[in-house]
Amino acid sequence: MNPQFTFNPGPAAVYPEVRQYLLDAYDEGWLSAPHRGERFQAMVRQCTENLRLKLNIPQDYTILFTSSATECWEILAQSLTPRRSFHLFNGSFGQKWFDYARALRPGCTGLRFDVNDVPDAATLPFDPAETDLVCITQNETSTATQLRDQFVLNLFNRIGPALLAVDATSSLGGAALKFIKADVWYGSVQKCLGLPAGLGLLVLSPRAVARAREINEKAHYNSLTSMITNMLNHQTTHTPNVLDIYLLSRVIAQREGIKTIAPHLQERAQKLYDYFEQVQPLGLRPLIDNPDARSVTVVGVQGPAALIEEVKRRARDEAGLQLGSGYGDHKATSFRLANFPAVPDAAFEALVQFLEKARAAVSA
Ligand SMILES: *Cc1c(COP(=O)(O)O)cnc(C)c1O
Repeated sequence: MNPQFTFNPGPAAVYPEVRQYLLDAYDEGWLSAPHRGERFQAMVRQCTENLRLKLNIPQDYTILFTSSATECWEILAQSLTPRRSFHLFNGSFGQKWFDYARALRPGCTGLRFDVNDVPDAATLPFDPAETDLVCITQNETSTATQLRDQFVLNLFNRIGPALLAVDATSSLGGAALKFIKADVWYGSVQKCLGLPAGLGLLVLSPRAVARAREINEKAHYNSLTSMITNMLNHQTTHTPNVLDIYLLSRVIAQREGIKTIAPHLQERAQKLYDYFEQVQPLGLRPLIDNPDARSVTVVGVQGPAALIEEVKRRARDEAGLQLGSGYGDHKATSFRLANFPAVPDAAFEALVQFLEKARAAVSA
């Protein structure tokens, strides 16, 4: 049986409306619509306009479609990194980005920081004049940590001619990102946008677009200059995931603005962290000790491996709740809760109810 609610941080819960949109996509002929046709172009125009409106993406930023966040790692290394990038990370996704970049540009450097640390932008070891791209993961899904706006701002203020690139895969659509404080932002739709996987968004500042044109890398089908040129006509370099773009256009049109969504998620996260910190149900507590390092959109919870396994199993069997597994080093001793917009409040209420019941049974 399918769980009633899933807290998986990706692929995550999709909006229930997606069921109807899928039928509409079929009925309206989108599954065989030509991606060079006017109808597709009009849909893309509408979709990107609504993305700007609902996510507060500045008018002069360029929005591109990719297949995934992973593809963005490669595009950025190929098209915006003639020399080297510098990578700051504390988990698996940031590490993978560094690994892919280094495979293409061996001069890339990186720094790992502790999951409970708040890094200091002023002391990061890179030379702005010799670095093309400074790369950070705004929300590290694997460790349930987040870099705050102030850090991103401080970093942006010191990068000089380098570009600041931000992996916002598990916060794009869930956090009120300050787009003007970085040059490159990207994410996938199966996290905070509540859609099926297979589509990524890449958002570029005017400075990043100018840099891409200057470098003018054209050796790849997904070279940034070709993508930017195609998007001037609301088109893509290859046959894109038209279905997912259509679903995105429908979801984003009906969703509330990020100014409404983000505070709601913040409040939900705070309640959860308070609960796990103060009550410590069954001995479970927040994975990240430092409140200033904790993610809003992915909440990590830790406990002994046997307890984690039991809680995951019983949540599924007794309450129809699918908890997200831990990741990497924390796989056995933690679970993760996607605090994404498409996960309803009722799911969090059911989770706390389940834990309270289990707690009462133990103390009885
Ligand atoms: C999920 C995720 C990715 C990878 O996304 P794909 O759509 O699988 O390419 C990259 N970075 C972060 C932070 C993620 O959460």
